[in-house]
Amino acid sequence: MRRDADVRRMDLTGMETGDEALDAASFDFGRVVRKRPRAIARPSSPREVAETIAAANREACPVTFQGARHSQSGQSLSEDGVLIDMKGLDRIDAVDGGQVRVQGGVRWRDLVHRVFAEGYLPMALTTHLGVTVGGTLSTAGLSESTHLFGTQADSATELEVVTGDGRLMRCSHESNATLFDCVRCGQGQFGVITEARLRLRKVLPNVRTFSLVYDDVAAFMQDTESIVGWERFQYIDAWCLPFARSMWDVATGNLFARRLYTLNLTKEWDAVPPNRDEVLESLHYAHLRGTDDRPTLQYVTRMEGRSASDWFEDWGQAHPNMEGILPWDAFAPFMEETFTDLPGSVARASRVMLGPFRNHLFRSPLLMRPDGELLMGFGILIELPQPELEGVLPALAEASDRLVAFGGKRYLAGWVDFDQERWQAHYGELWPRMVAWKRAFDPNYVLNPGGIPLQPR
Ligand SMILES: Cc1cc2nc3c(=O)[nH]c(=O)nc-3n(C[C@H](O)[C@H](O)[C@H](O)COP(=O)(O)OP(=O)(O)OC[C@H]3O[C@@H](n4cnc5c(N)ncnc54)[C@H](O)[C@@H]3O)c2cc1C
Repeated sequence: MRRDADVRRMDLTGMETGDEALDAASFDFGRVVRKRPRAIARPSSPREVAETIAAANREACPVTFQGARHSQSGQSLSEDGVLIDMKGLDRIDAVDGGQVRVQGGVRWRDLVHRVFAEGYLPMALTTHLGVTVGGTLSTAGLSESTHLFGTQADSATELEVVTGDGRLMRCSHESNATLFDCVRCGQGQFGVITEARLRLRKVLPNVRTFSLVYDDVAAFMQDTESIVGWERFQYIDAWCLPFARSMWDVATGNLFARRLYTLNLTKEWDAVPPNRDEVLESLHYAHLRGTDDRPTLQYVTRMEGRSASDWFEDWGQAHPNMEGILPWDAFAPFMEETFTDLPGSVARASRVMLGPFRNHLFRSPLLMRPDGELLMGFGILIELPQPELEGVLPALAEASDRLVAFGGKRYLAGWVDFDQERWQAHYGELWPRMVAWKRAFDPNYVLNPGGIPLQPR
């Protein structure tokens, strides 16, 4: 960096600097924090991205990448720096040998429609498809199919990246492997993903979903463990319903003393639909709520176009989602403690999403997870008016600490309020290596300040 670097001299030619655009770019889906950028760049090629980052280095100007802004604690926002909106990098190449090259700003929705026409789907899909390839590869991209195919980041076989000092590089397991390892799930700290080559899988045209209800966590866990082992269902969508209030619950004073669990198990099929008695044989559910048949494309895009109240997607509301991954055996006691203590204000505004995972399928070093082969994903999804945040965030912070105390790891897509100590504990032994990677790939510390605090103080 030049000694006389001066952020005020950053050349903003060609960038948006109008109040309206800057205000609109100052909040993310979480609406917990507000950060206003100095300018917004909307590049349409990797070279333009590289030039902007190189210029930012010269003047020590902070740079933040933004995909679809679905982060929840300002990870995709910039405080007085340059915000690089990646959505202009939206090229999708033809499928080649079961893989596809896409640019980092492509939305998964567009990729799904493109490759499904050729009988393929990405290996893993987030429930909401409006997010971008770069945005989810830099967090992980957990999916209803992760128990079979890992994360979206795991499906990347090669990346093109602009590093924090403006170098345009390719990386994979075989070439520039360190960069590959720190960019996947790296929260935009080491470089920006401008292109990815992704593995795809062949799919069958139809799905049948069986919706099972459990009133007993032990039966839910036992069945989930069997189902993950069978590999029979391509999609597992699991929820906990802590809202099963009854007069009995009210009388005992704990509105959330009872919980129901649901498992929506979905199997692809072509000529013959799966037979209920065969596929659900030996399971211990309390109730089969229903069976649903759809075309596969309709199933994976089912969250598209739903109303805000259906999917908690009112951008005017705050969404401090708190997510993590728990050791299998810690799940039941964690739920018991968490929902016994959870204030009504949080529980009332929440849904609890679950997902069973298998550790050996996770291949990205920076996706932190507990030891053990079977893991349970957990997320409190929450939507509430901003003025209510003050009363809710302390309870969520407590639940976050409890998750860690039970041996879990936070999933960093949602609301994260770590101090330095918690960040270092999150990454554990990897921390010194991350500090070194930051120095190597972003020596002037211009990328995504306000995220993982890797800059020596
Ligand atoms: C309704 C909803 C449903 C969701 N469902 C799921 C789900 O099923 N599974 C799941 O795993 N997550 C899920 N998420 C979380 C979501 O996938 C992550 O927040 C993801 O990072 C959002 O992608 P984005 O394009 O909006 O990225 P942004 O929010 O814009 O950015 C997220 C982070 O990635 C960085 N970044 C953005 N683009 C790039 C790039 N090209 N290169 C490097 N870094 C970049 C940003 O700087 C920021 O740090 C959901 C979120 C919402 C709001």
